[in-house]
Amino acid sequence: MACNNLMVLYSGGTIGMQMTAEGLAPASGLEALLRARQAEQHDGLPHWRFRELQPLLDSANMTQANWLALADAVRQAVDEDGCDGVLLLHGTDTLAYSAAALSFLLLGLPVPLLLTGAMLPVSSSGSDAWGNLFGALRRLQAGIAPGVYLYFHDRLLHGARASKLSSDAFDAFAELPRLRQGAHASAWPASLSYRQPRQPVRLAVLPLHPGFDASLLRALLENGVRGVVLECYGSGTGPADDPLLLEVLREAHARGVVLLAISQCLHGHIDFAVYAAGSQLAACGLLSGGGMTREAALGKLFALLGAGLGQADVEHWLSLDLCGERRDDTAS
Ligand code: ASP
Repeated sequence: MACNNLMVLYSGGTIGMQMTAEGLAPASGLEALLRARQAEQHDGLPHWRFRELQPLLDSANMTQANWLALADAVRQAVDEDGCDGVLLLHGTDTLAYSAAALSFLLLGLPVPLLLTGAMLPVSSSGSDAWGNLFGALRRLQAGIAPGVYLYFHDRLLHGARASKLSSDAFDAFAELPRLRQGAHASAWPASLSYRQPRQPVRLAVLPLHPGFDASLLRALLENGVRGVVLECYGSGTGPADDPLLLEVLREAHARGVVLLAISQCLHGHIDFAVYAAGSQLAACGLLSGGGMTREAALGKLFALLGAGLGQADVEHWLSLDLCGERRDDTAS
């Protein structure tokens, strides 16, 4: 769908930052720079409006409440302002997390949402900001199917499959080649629609590591956490010969905590049945996240638990593909 009435949302990030005594910090004034640059060099772009979100953030400070505010701003642009495409400018540090969270918070959004940012501010010579900004606007103008995407360095990536792989290269984002297959949800309830309000929810992401102390996991799980993304080894293994770990997992699951496993391997996916050290974890209530990335697992868990669904429903929707996060051939 070709867009001709766009909204540009500016949430902060390096792209519009200015130097301060403490280093780069978010700054307003990006709209004027963008309009001046367009007048000089970029004819024929569709009409766009610009909204600066408050407060402008270094995306390292992004919270669940900020994700909800981003989703609201997109919803408003589409449902109230009648925009047929949205470009969200965002810091790169948590860009992939926000793209994933918004992929699930905005299920059913009838227009495309592109997220982009830059490794260098617009004010730096040789910055990648202009290429990313105008490239994203051109992609929206050319037409893209509804859905959430991350656009960076001339590449259009799936919003729920992208990760930041470099802290300094312009080509900083990629889709990790993780196995994605499984059943796609042919429909989902209104409670998962982009119009559904969500609430913040207590979540944690934890990597297993040699010497993992299950009593620390217990302390965390007894502290009101509603869902955990456990980053397991390889195909979904962990120290299953530790009876305390199995007990902690079993108890937490019985209390209603959602336990979601993903693989620490960059190219990995969960297949618990390969090893006893995996199937023993699964027997305690740990659910396979398939080939989901950390960003997708966290964003999906948030969107489901934040919508107020109970444990069984959350586990049901976690195990199905909602938007291409669990299988590659989903039409987005
Ligand atoms: N720390 C910055 C941010 O995420 C980095 C960037 O935008 O590239 O906002």
